Amino acid sequence: NSTCTDDYNVQRTNDDATQCKYVAVQMHYFEDPFIHRFFFNTPDTPLRRDPEISIGYWARISAINKYVDDFLLAHPDGQILNLGCGFDTLFWRLKALGKVFSKVIEVDFSSVTARKIRQILKPGKPNLVELFSQPPQEVQHCDLHCGDYELVGADIRQWNELKEKLDCAKVDFTLPTMVITECVLVYMSEDQSASLLANLRNFFGKIVLINYEQLNTNDTFGKVMQENLAQRGLNLSGLAPCESGEKQKARFEAAGFPHVQVLDMSTIYKTQLDQTERKRIEAIEHLDEMELLYQLLQHYGIVIGSTEPLTSN
Ligand code: SAM
Repeated sequence: NSTCTDDYNVQRTNDDATQCKYVAVQMHYFEDPFIHRFFFNTPDTPLRRDPEISIGYWARISAINKYVDDFLLAHPDGQILNLGCGFDTLFWRLKALGKVFSKVIEVDFSSVTARKIRQILKPGKPNLVELFSQPPQEVQHCDLHCGDYELVGADIRQWNELKEKLDCAKVDFTLPTMVITECVLVYMSEDQSASLLANLRNFFGKIVLINYEQLNTNDTFGKVMQENLAQRGLNLSGLAPCESGEKQKARFEAAGFPHVQVLDMSTIYKTQLDQTERKRIEAIEHLDEMELLYQLLQHYGIVIGSTEPLTSN
């Protein structure tokens, strides 16, 4: 069944993301004291990544951290909903930094959440369980309820299934909510992502959605990116909206978001991230040419859709 095969390949993209983050942390691009708890080393895993990839991860994680920090500063009672969370360590990083929030809810396919639960509950250092506000309660091997942390298994293309799990996770639809979709929407069809965005917009009263994914894919470089992914069995069915910033903006507006901003990662890298840090990370490994890095960054972007006006800093 081709859908299952596709889903399996999509779930494996999480392993690649985790490995890339692990390598970048080992190389001191950024700190993440929790990532090794989720890292699997398989014999065919090359424990090396090109510097452009590690810099790309530094930029992506730094940018998302910045949006999350701004959101939590404005809304200490806010909640974060991380869709297609994979093995993201966001909850533990926020707790370790003493950030205030009501809860973090994470969703992925059940097979991925089941694996994440095993890693969370496995003894090791740092202890991942002691940062929860309540002792973890595991349900059917794929859901974990821990007070201020909820991890649930659902196919986010199926709104009824997702909504049921959000209710089990006691999501409060009246609280200010930041939704993160990081490298996720691209794996579903345009119709499926359109309906997910519209449902999120309709159910949450106050929402800021941060979407990170490919952008400007309709040129030669973008086509090469697509071919590389196709070789790994990944059919990026959602690519159509990523062709341009205008299309991204249009799909968020069509879903009912009154305020939308689209920025490519090259712009974010050059203008929004800490430039002292940027100098530091650019010196970690030798880059043959900066142009290749900028070209890569131009093909990723962040779309913010919000019910509140956005500041463009
Ligand atoms: N967001 C994480 C990050 O940035 O590190 C993981 C990104 S990984 C490339 C994509 C994740 O989205 C995978 O864990 C995959 O299982 C999940 N995903 C994709 N489509 C999904 C769907 N329809 N329902 C639930 N999870 C999905």
